[in-house]
Amino acid sequence: MLTGQCLCGAVKFILKREVKQIAFCHCKYCRRAHGSAFASSTLIRGDDFEVESGLDKIASYGARYFCSVCASRLYNRSPPDAPYMNLMVSTLDIEPSGELIAHMNVASKAHWFRIGDGGVQYPEFPSQKEIVKAMKELK
Ligand SMILES: [Zn+2]
Ligand SMILES: [Zn+2]
Repeated sequence: MLTGQCLCGAVKFILKREVKQIAFCHCKYCRRAHGSAFASSTLIRGDDFEVESGLDKIASYGARYFCSVCASRLYNRSPPDAPYMNLMVSTLDIEPSGELIAHMNVASKAHWFRIGDGGVQYPEFPSQKEIVKAMKELK
């Protein structure tokens, strides 16, 4: 079991599983939302995620959820009751043991950011087939 929280601590959550796979999204929306070169997230089952405190502090902009007090990005989930969600890994209290496996939307990445690792690079979002395969590996 892992725990996590936003920057101010108003939102605290439990993740009932280990983080195995981490992906970076380089799309212009993630870059703008995070004020960063990419967003780092992990695909988890919604059932494995439990908000311990601060549920009323969680706000959303489309599928992007964040703390309404400190604006920390928490996760993406669309629709709100989707079986899977993308948790922002930097919200975790301890560094997850998982590894970076993929870069998504590399075609629209920041030109000033150079990818220097072995993660699989997808020019856009991975296909439905590839996502289903990744989901199966979570079981
Ligand atoms: Zn907060
Ligand atoms: Zn993105």
